[in-house]
Amino acid sequence: MKRRPLIAGNWKMNGLLRQLTELQMIAEAAGEIGEGRDLLICPPATILSASRGILGQKVAIGGQDCHAAPSGAHTGDLSAEMLADVGARYVIVGHSERRADHDEDDAAVRAKAEAAWRAGLVAIVCIGESEAQREAGETLDVLGAQVAGSVPDGATGANLVLAYEPVWAIGTGRTAAVEDIADAHGFLRRTLVERLGEERGAAVRILYGGSVKPGNAAELLAIDDVDGALVGGASLKADDFIAICRATPVG
Ligand code: PEP
Repeated sequence: MKRRPLIAGNWKMNGLLRQLTELQMIAEAAGEIGEGRDLLICPPATILSASRGILGQKVAIGGQDCHAAPSGAHTGDLSAEMLADVGARYVIVGHSERRADHDEDDAAVRAKAEAAWRAGLVAIVCIGESEAQREAGETLDVLGAQVAGSVPDGATGANLVLAYEPVWAIGTGRTAAVEDIADAHGFLRRTLVERLGEERGAAVRILYGGSVKPGNAAELLAIDDVDGALVGGASLKADDFIAICRATPVG
């Protein structure tokens, strides 16, 4: 099945109003780089609204996290409904930095993905093994358990994107070997098909994330079942994000 690639930028806790010029450049290139590809930027919540205004319709915006509840006494948190209210179409849930810094387990991630769906957002569910787990040969077991625990029932190609991000490759400049990425993505595809059925399992996009840069994007994004990238550091620079998009094969 053909899946439309998605290139998603995760700005993490970076981005001030004065850096919106980078988004302006992405918006200007969007007609070209968005041909056959879906584009997404997840800026910090403080500039979501301004980003929406700059990026227009060709580049979606998304949140980096959401609370499981629609509203309530949760100081400092944001609901999926609030993200949808400012025009977000996606939300990242279960990023390894949230799992580590905020003790989010699979059950919490699953509840957030359900919250995303309740608000009409696409949930980008992040999974990935630690370096110790990889060295112990546990990678596929870890990924299987994370999919089982973090992905809610009812997932489809329209409401779920899975992001495979080896924790040790995030922000380190190291990437997994091509054959290891192929193994992981092939395993994830089989797992999704088993869980969701042939049609739905084949429709869900599986992104690779972890130090994707202009120099390695073409090689990483050509791997079977890699349907795009979740890009951290390199998404902060418009030139790098644009180069990664151009390196992403379409159709
Ligand atoms: C990420 O934040 O999900 C990520 C993959 O970061 P980086 O590209 O900087 O490794």
